[in-house]
Amino acid sequence: MSDFESNLARARSFLAPFRDEVTGHFINGERVVPAGSSTFDNLTPTDNTSLGQVVAGSADDVNAACEAAEAAFPEWRAMPGAARKKLLNHFADRIVARAEEIALVESMDCGQPIRFMQQAAVRGAANFRFFADKAPEARNGLALHQEEHTNYTLRTPIGPVAVITPWNTPFMLSTWKIAPALAAGCTVVHKPAELSPLTAMILAEISREAGIPPGVWNTVNGFGEVAGKTLTEHPAIKAVALVGESDTGSHIMRQGAATLKRMHFELGGKNPVLVFDDADFERALDAVVFMIYSLNGQRCTSSSRLLIQGGIRDRFIGALAQRVKALRVGHPLDPATEVGPLVHGGHFDKVMSYMDTARADGATIAVGGSRRDDLGAGNYVCPTLFTGANNRMRIAREEIFGPVLTAISFDTEEEAIQIANDSPYGLAAYVWTGDTGRAMRLANRVETGMLWVNSENNRNLPSPFGGIKMSGVGRDGGDYSFDFYMETKNVCIAHDTHKLPVLGRPVEATPV
Ligand code: NAD
Repeated sequence: MSDFESNLARARSFLAPFRDEVTGHFINGERVVPAGSSTFDNLTPTDNTSLGQVVAGSADDVNAACEAAEAAFPEWRAMPGAARKKLLNHFADRIVARAEEIALVESMDCGQPIRFMQQAAVRGAANFRFFADKAPEARNGLALHQEEHTNYTLRTPIGPVAVITPWNTPFMLSTWKIAPALAAGCTVVHKPAELSPLTAMILAEISREAGIPPGVWNTVNGFGEVAGKTLTEHPAIKAVALVGESDTGSHIMRQGAATLKRMHFELGGKNPVLVFDDADFERALDAVVFMIYSLNGQRCTSSSRLLIQGGIRDRFIGALAQRVKALRVGHPLDPATEVGPLVHGGHFDKVMSYMDTARADGATIAVGGSRRDDLGAGNYVCPTLFTGANNRMRIAREEIFGPVLTAISFDTEEEAIQIANDSPYGLAAYVWTGDTGRAMRLANRVETGMLWVNSENNRNLPSPFGGIKMSGVGRDGGDYSFDFYMETKNVCIAHDTHKLPVLGRPVEATPV
């Protein structure tokens, strides 16, 4: 049996429970399928057949989850940080124990190649360990001294929170958002994307195995317009952490306005990679290919706009085109696969529509541009490279979210900065140059939440993660996550030396 066949066989056995039973919610420590629920088919992008039925959560279901999170909050917030640290580290151990199952289920559910998904479980566990270890000090604040007073700050968990996640790397992103919320002392209602609900249910199960008390972790499945909307409007929910599209962020901001919820949004991007003539050619080429064609191009930080300097343009584009043609497209469970099928038929259609847009705008489709018909009924797209583009074209301005790269030429540093910044988005940027001074100038001037120099998307958990402009509001990572999930209280203590203002005291007789 080949590795591919063995992956398929093991995936089938891990997917059997989802096929045999309706996937419901996880509320107050129990899996529930409310009576009379409506359901929808969860399709695998490998061939668009159903992996099973999933409950489309109603407003009542969401209300029950919010009430459970509210009821569990006082006890969870009172638990000492050291105890939460132990529980969350145990959680990470349970993720590692189920890593293979998570990777195989995730690949089948959202089409991401197994070579990348094997890392997803490891990264998810790392997220839990990182925030678990910080839990004991999460409440610590600052000491702020004045001459006659001492101020100090302390932090308290904000309350029950909503975590709303997308479908592109659902497992990893869910752990990235939920681990700090729990470490901070918040209870959680998680709404996974309707297109990729399965590993969220495995996570909910792990929360029970790990001993997280009932009500601290709740998962509701369903659609944004009903389940997501109800969640973001519920008065018990004090903050909403969303990873999703920019439009969804706007909707949620409106929905949460009446209850003045705190919002943290990680949204879309059209991230530039700027490659200068003096860059290390081969390393830049590796990074450019990796950062748009890995994870099927369904990655918020993908470098979907290549800005290439005139001196190396033809050589770089030539080498790039060879690499894009050679990418191995295939079934996500085949270990050789580098690009898998897109998550859903609707998303496939959206990505394919940009092939016509590119032609209409006058760009050249240098590689790809069509469906991989030879791979059967799945949502397989040929990795695509657009050249001869300019930054006014829709293929340079809109997030395509597929294995599709738009290359734009520039001559001067100033022009590169201008093109990079001429975008509604500002999530990530990548700079390839041998000139440190230039890298420093670009770090100052490129409008982005994150910038990498001579690197692909290197991850550092204490570093701030997030975007500007239409790419997001707020930052994750390290202490930034605690700032979001916690309230900061200032306490001011007098040294009993200062002069108090006096009102209404009788005026004493002046001594003779
Ligand atoms: P999406 O915005 O369609 O959905 C995200 C989640 O929001 C889903 O769970 C959905 O059900 C929910 N939702 C939709 N409408 C809602 C509403 N009115 N109220 C409450 N919830 C609602 O995004 P997607 O298509 O699942 O994911 C792809 C997007 O996510 C891309 O734009 C990508 O760039 C972005 N993303 C950003 C980051 C980041 O860190 N910046 C990371 C990953 C993905």
